[in-house]
Amino acid sequence: MKCPQCKGKMVKGKRTNLPYESDGESIIVVKNVPALTCSQCGEAYVEINILRRVEKILAKATGDGLVMGFVEYEKAA
Ligand SMILES: [Zn+2]
Repeated sequence: MKCPQCKGKMVKGKRTNLPYESDGESIIVVKNVPALTCSQCGEAYVEINILRRVEKILAKATGDGLVMGFVEYEKAA
Protein backbone atom coordinates (compact mmCIF):
# COMPACT_ATOMS: atom_id res chain seq x y z
CA MET A 1 0.00 0.00 0.00
CA LYS A 2 0.98 3.65 -0.34
CA CYS A 3 1.39 6.34 2.29
CA PRO A 4 -1.85 8.32 2.84
CA GLN A 5 0.25 11.46 3.36
CA CYS A 6 2.80 11.49 0.55
CA LYS A 7 2.08 8.32 -1.50
CA GLY A 8 5.50 7.00 -0.57
CA LYS A 9 6.24 3.34 -0.11
CA MET A 10 5.06 1.80 3.17
CA VAL A 11 7.41 -0.73 4.72
CA LYS A 12 6.53 -3.46 7.18
CA GLY A 13 8.49 -4.46 10.22
CA LYS A 14 8.42 -1.35 12.40
CA ARG A 15 6.55 -1.19 15.67
CA THR A 16 4.79 1.70 17.27
CA ASN A 17 3.19 2.61 20.59
CA LEU A 18 -0.45 3.65 20.54
CA PRO A 19 -1.70 5.80 23.42
CA TYR A 20 -5.42 5.72 24.20
CA GLU A 21 -7.23 8.15 26.39
CA SER A 22 -10.82 7.75 27.45
CA ASP A 23 -13.04 10.03 29.51
CA GLY A 24 -9.99 12.13 30.36
CA GLU A 25 -9.15 9.82 33.23
CA SER A 26 -7.82 6.63 31.77
CA ILE A 27 -4.66 6.53 29.68
CA ILE A 28 -3.44 3.23 28.33
CA VAL A 29 -0.53 2.79 25.96
CA VAL A 30 -0.45 -0.31 23.82
CA LYS A 31 3.21 -1.00 23.12
CA ASN A 32 4.95 -2.56 20.14
CA VAL A 33 2.00 -2.62 17.81
CA PRO A 34 3.06 -3.85 14.35
CA ALA A 35 2.87 -0.97 11.89
CA LEU A 36 3.68 0.03 8.35
CA THR A 37 6.02 2.99 8.13
CA CYS A 38 6.47 5.34 5.18
CA SER A 39 9.97 5.19 3.75
CA GLN A 40 9.70 8.86 2.72
CA CYS A 41 7.96 10.80 5.51
CA GLY A 42 8.02 8.29 8.37
CA GLU A 43 4.25 8.27 8.83
CA ALA A 44 3.18 5.16 10.77
CA TYR A 45 0.06 3.32 9.71
CA VAL A 46 -1.58 0.50 11.62
CA GLU A 47 -3.69 -1.90 9.59
CA ILE A 48 -7.38 -2.19 10.41
CA ASN A 49 -7.25 -5.85 11.51
CA ILE A 50 -4.49 -4.95 13.95
CA LEU A 51 -6.46 -1.94 15.21
CA ARG A 52 -9.41 -4.24 15.91
CA ARG A 53 -7.16 -6.42 18.03
CA VAL A 54 -5.84 -3.35 19.83
CA GLU A 55 -9.43 -2.37 20.63
CA LYS A 56 -10.05 -5.80 22.13
CA ILE A 57 -6.88 -5.56 24.20
CA LEU A 58 -8.01 -2.16 25.49
CA ALA A 59 -11.49 -3.41 26.31
CA LYS A 60 -9.99 -6.26 28.29
CA ALA A 61 -7.49 -4.01 30.08
CA THR A 62 -10.14 -1.51 31.13
CA GLY A 63 -12.47 -4.39 32.03
CA ASP A 64 -9.72 -5.63 34.36
CA GLY A 65 -9.73 -2.20 36.00
CA LEU A 66 -6.58 -0.77 34.41
CA VAL A 67 -6.77 3.02 34.46
CA MET A 68 -3.25 4.01 33.54
CA GLY A 69 -0.44 1.93 32.21
CA PHE A 70 1.12 -0.08 29.43
CA VAL A 71 -0.01 -3.21 27.68
CA GLU A 72 2.30 -5.20 25.41
CA TYR A 73 0.59 -5.97 22.11
CA GLU A 74 2.33 -9.34 21.66
CA LYS A 75 1.57 -10.57 25.16
CA ALA A 76 -2.05 -9.44 25.17
CA ALA A 77 -3.00 -10.45 21.61
ZN1 LIG B 1 4.73 9.28 3.54
